[in-house]
Amino acid sequence: MVTPKYDVVVIGSGPAGATTARIAAEQGLLVLLCDKKQELGAPIQCSGAVSRHGLESAGVVPSDEFVLEAIYGFGVYNGAGESTILDYRQFKPDEYGEGEGRKPLGYVVDRRRFDRCLMTMAERAGVNVMLKTEALGYQPLPYGICEVRLLHFNEEIKVHARVVVGADGLQSQVGKWAGLRTQIKLTELASCLQFVVDKVETSGLLEIVTGHRWAPGGYAWVFPKGHGYAEIGLGVIRTMTAMNARQHLDVFIKQSFFRERFSDSRILEIQGGGVPLAAPLKTQYADNLLLVGDAARHVNPITGGGIHTALSGGVIAGIFLGSIIKAGIEPNKMNLKKYQDLWLEEMGNKMWQLYGVKKHIFATKDIVQRDDMLYRTMSDYFSPYSEYKKI
Ligand SMILES: Cc1cc2nc3c(=O)[nH]c(=O)nc-3n(C[C@H](O)[C@H](O)[C@H](O)COP(=O)(O)OP(=O)(O)OC[C@H]3O[C@@H](n4cnc5c(N)ncnc54)[C@H](O)[C@@H]3O)c2cc1C
Repeated sequence: MVTPKYDVVVIGSGPAGATTARIAAEQGLLVLLCDKKQELGAPIQCSGAVSRHGLESAGVVPSDEFVLEAIYGFGVYNGAGESTILDYRQFKPDEYGEGEGRKPLGYVVDRRRFDRCLMTMAERAGVNVMLKTEALGYQPLPYGICEVRLLHFNEEIKVHARVVVGADGLQSQVGKWAGLRTQIKLTELASCLQFVVDKVETSGLLEIVTGHRWAPGGYAWVFPKGHGYAEIGLGVIRTMTAMNARQHLDVFIKQSFFRERFSDSRILEIQGGGVPLAAPLKTQYADNLLLVGDAARHVNPITGGGIHTALSGGVIAGIFLGSIIKAGIEPNKMNLKKYQDLWLEEMGNKMWQLYGVKKHIFATKDIVQRDDMLYRTMSDYFSPYSEYKKI
């Protein structure tokens, strides 16, 4: 019988993978975390908005190392520019704000520095980290272990582990290796583009602009980015429009009710990527294998936010792996199903409910009615009275 070198090999060191690895190591497991990149978080494909609660619930202390700007609430706009301002400094002045004893509601983080910080936290917890190491495949073996093939720099190596965790993002291959149904429909994949700009005023709010006219199937945003910079972006569902995200962003900047505000803006960086506005995967486990984060579609299907949910999923996965591996339970698919059950209980059931709300909105053919539903849903979602736990 082979004794594996590692209890867990985590593929992908984004928020989901780095957190899974750290929490598993804190449970006393031997963990390898590998990422194909040589510089984590680069190129940036994220706006970096995350709630303080999301960070704190994963044991991540907000730090100058990665925080670009503190956030105190939301401005939600409909297509015509009418707004619902949800400034938590006004709702709960004793709790939220800049003064002594008050805190932000959330942050905009620099994903390069954030991902590096999460990886460093994992390493300091005892995780062995290998960058420039691409996972190529896995194979369950007898006696509850598996073999993972890795390309480290240009050299192929094999490691044995009890469980491999696929935290390899939206285009996850790890789930495919196990035959899981990971395909995403084009009707549920938002194509996103954002410009980091100078000379656009912001006031500590995440601004969300709904309306088919500006962003069919998604929404546009203006986020503060620190040092006087801002981020103007949008996500669209390509099956709902003949124009691409760049063309929509151009129209939004030049023709929307914000056009005066944007008129002096200068583009400093261009970033983009895909966001699944989809349901969580129905099966997120297989023999010796779990999925977490974007790879498992742990993404809020209305907002597209996936940092908080990646961190939370990582905590759930890390604790779960500690409990079964230390108890000597064989990590076959029957026993790993418990991970998904725990995840559903803690977070996933809410996500499924939100997915139902999203489906209902976009099944509505009347665009005016649909725009109104999305605007109201977004406004409710970000309000302090939201029935949804912030996911
Ligand atoms: C334009 C845009 C804006 C966004 N803005 C926000 C926002 O403001 N707030 C928010 O909450 N979410 C936002 N998101 C979503 C958020 O970025 C993701 O949900 C989040 O990064 C998911 O984390 P993850 O750890 O699951 O995956 P990722 O962050 O994608 O990390 C996956 C990692 O796996 C590695 N990898 C992949 N394949 C392999 C392999 N075979 N071997 C080794 N390594 C591999 C990759 O290099 C990568 O480092 C945005 C997304 C986009 C595209």
